[in-house]
Amino acid sequence: YRRMLLRLKDEPARSRDGQTIRLMANIELPSDVAQAQEVGAEGIGLYRTEFLFMNREQPPGEEEQYLAYREVIAAVDGPVTIRTLDLGADKQSEAVRISQATNPALGLRAVRLCLKDRSLFRTQLRALLRAASAGRARIMIPMISNIFELRQCTQLIHDIKTELAQEQREFSDTAQVGAMIEVPGAALAAPWLARECEFFSIGTNDLIQYTLAIDRVDDEVNYLYDPLHPAVLQLIRRTIEAGQMAGIPVSMCGEMAGDTLHTRLLLGLGLTEFSMHPASVLEVKRIVRDADVSDLRRRTDELLACTDPGEARQRIDAIAAL
Ligand code: PEP
Ligand code: MG
Repeated sequence: YRRMLLRLKDEPARSRDGQTIRLMANIELPSDVAQAQEVGAEGIGLYRTEFLFMNREQPPGEEEQYLAYREVIAAVDGPVTIRTLDLGADKQSEAVRISQATNPALGLRAVRLCLKDRSLFRTQLRALLRAASAGRARIMIPMISNIFELRQCTQLIHDIKTELAQEQREFSDTAQVGAMIEVPGAALAAPWLARECEFFSIGTNDLIQYTLAIDRVDDEVNYLYDPLHPAVLQLIRRTIEAGQMAGIPVSMCGEMAGDTLHTRLLLGLGLTEFSMHPASVLEVKRIVRDADVSDLRRRTDELLACTDPGEARQRIDAIAAL
């Protein structure tokens, strides 16, 4: 089976009815790139930069970050989506101490932390913009919950470019800036956000946590964590549609994107870009190549319109079992 899968490495991720799907990899460290390339991933859909900040006392400086990002951007043919620092709540680092909140998942984390600790954010953005000149980099902002956060980020990126130009440093003027959609309010406001950024990536791990009010690291309530909850599916659909309407690409980089049980459903929801652990890429590709996307769209539309929970579940199972 493994050998059969490996033969798919250089085959296109094209469905039976001719839809081209982009399958990318999630990585945590530059050394993960090799694994992504072994399975023929068409780019990096999520590079979790917080791993560079872990197991150390001091945060990495601009030069160290620049070298790490550059290594990945230069090595990969396709787009490399670098997520700005997503610390706080379930992701902690000794190097960046965050005061303990009563509800850390709802507190100072990710972009909120970066907009508060500007020198931390500036250092990372400088390193990113400089490294981006080595290839096709995309800057992805986690936990966006309103348009003002997005605007503060784009303004800061603009200012840093001016600064780098004045210093006569090499940097990329064209790296795209996008928002992670992982807060329900951002998914509902996706049409507004889509006008002011260049791509979306749906982070289902947090989107599910916040939509269903289930702490993703609390075992007591884990049984309620449900990617197939109608509210979650509606939010995913809404985000994809908002991206299509605005003409910006929408990918998904949460665990759901790499779960083969959900591949057909996501195709039916209109998803065309997936990013996942490298180990899942070829299995997902097998399902994509076997899928009839227009048929899946029709079935998924029927499913979303169905308000009888039992029947909806049957329809989901039927799509998964095709
Ligand atoms: C997500 O929330 O779905 C995601 C991809 O990010 P993380 O799991 O790192 O929070
Ligand atoms: Mg997340």
